[in-house]
Amino acid sequence: MSFTYIIISVFQAELSALHQALKWKQVNRPLQHCDIFTDSMSALKALQKHQPRNNVVEEIKAILDESVSLHWVKAHIGIEGNESADKAAKEATSRTNVDLHLDLPIRSLKTSLKRQILDRWQRTWEDRENTKGRFTYKIFPRVSTSRCSDNSLISQAISNHGRFPSYFRRFNIKDGTCRCGEDTSDDILHYALHCPLVAHLRRRISPAFTLLQVITDKRMAKELCSIIQFINDHEEDIIQLED
Ligand SMILES: [Zn+2]
Repeated sequence: MSFTYIIISVFQAELSALHQALKWKQVNRPLQHCDIFTDSMSALKALQKHQPRNNVVEEIKAILDESVSLHWVKAHIGIEGNESADKAAKEATSRTNVDLHLDLPIRSLKTSLKRQILDRWQRTWEDRENTKGRFTYKIFPRVSTSRCSDNSLISQAISNHGRFPSYFRRFNIKDGTCRCGEDTSDDILHYALHCPLVAHLRRRISPAFTLLQVITDKRMAKELCSIIQFINDHEEDIIQLED
């Protein structure tokens, strides 16, 4: 896993600067009152929150006391201290070594990792050389972590891995075709939408729908489950085995 895409935000850097200043004050001027000026309104606003969602903010709040006053100053209008800080920051960008490694806030890290994992999964899923799961890919071209189905019958439908003749043939389990004789693919699409042998289980489902529409409609999904269950329970009545 590569971390090269994770970039520390300006906000995070501003907070870290404030944190460093406070730590310096705590060690070197513990009893003296101190005014700290920053042009980062977002850092100050984050510090005003009762329940900060950032671990650096939490750390700053833990060491802030009444001996410190924080002030906001407008940036780039010639305030001496602010200009010197800007100049120092610019000079730092041309340095070859790094003085301070900022910890990533855990939430940013999680979000970033999650995005990278999903991106990689999506790329693998779209890969033209990937021959697995192509039936499911046609139904769900975008990957998602929120789509997991705990219904094994629906899983059989979206993967086309049910006890259908097409499945048995593909994996060399047995050679057979649907007894209705109306189709040669004999896969989930045949059973969900067309096969007359399970027509009695279709109330709402019709060939006008796609498999995706069937799965995402609660009542049609229920019908689909009973169709697959029926095929599982009546295999001999459904599949004509080749001699
Ligand atoms: Zn059939």
